[in-house]
Amino acid sequence: MISVAEAIQIVRQQTALLPSEQVELPRALGRVLAEVVVADSDLPPFDRSQMDGYAVRAHDAQYAPVRLRIAGESAAGRGWHQQLEEGQAVRIMTGAPVPAGADSVQQVELTHELKDGTVVELVESVEPGKSIVKRGAEIKAGEVVSSVGTTITPATMAVLAAFGYANVKVFRRPRVGVLATGTELVAVDQKPGQDQIRDSNNYSISAYAQLTGAVVERLPLTGDETSLLQRQIAEAAERCDVIVTSGGVSMGVYDVTKSALNELEAEILFERVALRPGKPTVFARLPNGALVFGLPGNPVSVSVTFNLFARTALLAMQGAAEPALKRETALLARAVKGTADRESYLPAQLTINDDGQVVAFPLKWGGSSDFVAFAVATALLIVPAGAKTVAAGSLVNVVRLPG
Ligand code: AMP
Ligand code: MG
Repeated sequence: MISVAEAIQIVRQQTALLPSEQVELPRALGRVLAEVVVADSDLPPFDRSQMDGYAVRAHDAQYAPVRLRIAGESAAGRGWHQQLEEGQAVRIMTGAPVPAGADSVQQVELTHELKDGTVVELVESVEPGKSIVKRGAEIKAGEVVSSVGTTITPATMAVLAAFGYANVKVFRRPRVGVLATGTELVAVDQKPGQDQIRDSNNYSISAYAQLTGAVVERLPLTGDETSLLQRQIAEAAERCDVIVTSGGVSMGVYDVTKSALNELEAEILFERVALRPGKPTVFARLPNGALVFGLPGNPVSVSVTFNLFARTALLAMQGAAEPALKRETALLARAVKGTADRESYLPAQLTINDDGQVVAFPLKWGGSSDFVAFAVATALLIVPAGAKTVAAGSLVNVVRLPG
């Protein structure tokens, strides 16, 4: 049995970066940059007014109130491109270029126009440089704005647009085949008969996979027959980078996943992790290079093991800088029990207390099959292997659940 940390390390070692591709900017959200983003121009591209008001020479207004002759108007997109002379002011709008000769902008609230708009009175003096963002103050042409491995957020989209990235190079999305084993399973649109349940794992796995940016293919339910499972995995591996199965990895008579993988001459990279829930998780590589995650069948184990291992692989394949779930600390609201030889990942809800600290409330749940109780979890609370109990008020590690 290996530790969770060791298992994650193996996943990362075995995961190769996918090739990159060009996508149109509107399709780039959530993807990972495969190129360095460089500013193609200074920002701002000209000395820009931060306020509506009057562009002036600060020196002219040092003994306010003072009256200056209005020489013109500079609006955003339509500037006034002459030299501002002594004793002059230019009416200016937010975002407009500051004319040559002016060194400050007095905000409109501290002024009033006289004589049909030919003269302005500045009620107060103005500091040189006031309300002007100098050309290149935000970034200079040629500077690197975002590096390879950055996940594109809505804010990154604005940056890409500003520098003319109509197309952007990102890593290809992994193709993921999702496959549920179990004779007891029926599809979501079926009424379960005697001894049957509806398949739910294919839906949670697909959804979590989609959150990583993967393209998901849900494969037909396979029952518990080694040869059928073997055929389906082999077929899916022709199209998919990663296959995620659920069920059939415990020690029961019908636990067929490993037999199927052995028949396919897969290299088993790990098959037991010191983890609760999720001990029998299998990670393997097929001869054609496709990776297989054989997750346990219990729906909560699925969510835990997918997010610890498969998610990490899917993000690493897309070049994400930090593919594994990030640990944070939280105050434990209620005592929890650990397990002797395994690290526990228990469902919890995170809140913020009056002191601004993150507090983890462990959920009352009935174990790894209780996915209805798990549905309200927002995080997993990590209890180290060997800890008998962790007292309320302790500082614990948590990882947030994606979604
Ligand atoms: P297994 O790992 O195959 O022994 O399954 C463990 C438990 O999870 C059993 O109670 C299964 O019925 C249940 N289970 C397995 N696969 C699914 C699935 N796709 N959806 C919902 N429950 C499942
Ligand atoms: Mg089963």
